[in-house]
Amino acid sequence: MESCITPACQSARDIFHELEEHYDEHNLYFQTIGSVLEAADALKVPHRLKLILTQPKNEIMIHFPVQMDDGSWQLFKGYRVQHNNVLGPYKGGIRFHPEVKLDEVKTLSLLMTMKCALARLPYGGAKGALRVDPRSLSPHELQKVTRRLTAALGSNIGPDHDIPAPDVGTNAQIMAWMADTYINFSDSSKKTTALGVVTGKPLEFGGSEGREKATGQGLVYVLDALLPGMQMDIGQLTYSLIGYGNVGSWTARLLKDRGSKLLTVMDHTGAIYNADGIDADALAEHVRATGGVAQFKDAEAISNENFYSTQVDLFIPAALEQMVDLEHAEHMSCKVLVEAANAPTTPRAERYLLDKGVQILPAILCNSGGVTVSYFEWKQNRQSETWDAEDIDARLKKIMTAAAKRVLETAERLDCNMRVASYASAIEHIDKVYKVRGVFP
Ligand code: GLU
Repeated sequence: MESCITPACQSARDIFHELEEHYDEHNLYFQTIGSVLEAADALKVPHRLKLILTQPKNEIMIHFPVQMDDGSWQLFKGYRVQHNNVLGPYKGGIRFHPEVKLDEVKTLSLLMTMKCALARLPYGGAKGALRVDPRSLSPHELQKVTRRLTAALGSNIGPDHDIPAPDVGTNAQIMAWMADTYINFSDSSKKTTALGVVTGKPLEFGGSEGREKATGQGLVYVLDALLPGMQMDIGQLTYSLIGYGNVGSWTARLLKDRGSKLLTVMDHTGAIYNADGIDADALAEHVRATGGVAQFKDAEAISNENFYSTQVDLFIPAALEQMVDLEHAEHMSCKVLVEAANAPTTPRAERYLLDKGVQILPAILCNSGGVTVSYFEWKQNRQSETWDAEDIDARLKKIMTAAAKRVLETAERLDCNMRVASYASAIEHIDKVYKVRGVFP
């Protein structure tokens, strides 16, 4: 169990007392808002901004019934949390997972506010989730559930209001069904712009070049911007990876092109290792065919303990939240932790690693390539334009490089670690916008 002994925890505790809200030090939302408030304190922003950021604007919870293929009925539970929209429409993914909880969705919506602000995108932050294991549904059931979810969300989403996108357990096909359902419900004068209600759509139906690989590509651009300053060469390094879904597999394929060596991978099916390097494309093929990394023929199976203790330059968690806890951190042997997933490191693991001299590249910087190309998709939809892959890559590189520089510059100016710096840079921007806009009424 993690205990509360840091300035981050103290800031969160104070504000929860003020709001007369119950808090639990082990809760992910409490821990995350704590880090955000620590950054706000470092900047000495007005107290009202801390109050505004501490709770999301809207927490929407829905239930809807769907008849399954065998004739039985199931009731589904869904959430959409809209954290903040001072910079523009709410933006963020929607995940399908059997164990989602409201506080997890709240945390992810807060991180989206920070992520969009750090990248200086004209968006606020939101996140959605449906409690379901998508692998347990037939394609027909999946489509019905997705369409019914979209209808249940109704006017809570929209291209000028709140724009979902893929996340864990959702993909381009699910986005296509969401967009089609929304367009069918929308006014005839708004059908063209209605396409922009979700991003991450298939290329042939309003999607963008480069959206599928965007999170991995953005991460590689962040490494390009930051590794030279750490005396590391992307073409010479070794790394390990947790998760081989969209983000993990694209990161691995793009790092292969750059000459980095993937030594070990772990997912829900097990862990594998090859001292000569694992071929990222062959592994992607294997995962597509079998559903996981286990039994990949060009690597040996290793225990989870050996996975964590493998000596590497970069350790890249690209799966769910809180996968790296203190126990794992104590076994880890890496120079840099690169957070490809959202909130993958517990506060105690983070403290331990920072004390040991491990650099942590924070998630809101490392994985913001996804929402950045979502922004490009939304812009193309609004202007009925199609940008080519080179154009997308060049624009993405520019935004990722600028965000990485912003984090470095803020860390230096405030003399803090990169996580606090990434939040501080985001909050600084939000603060300026609140100052010019004012707070209604
Ligand atoms: N789900 C992704 C994230 O967590 C993408 C969000 C988006 O494209 O809106 O950043």
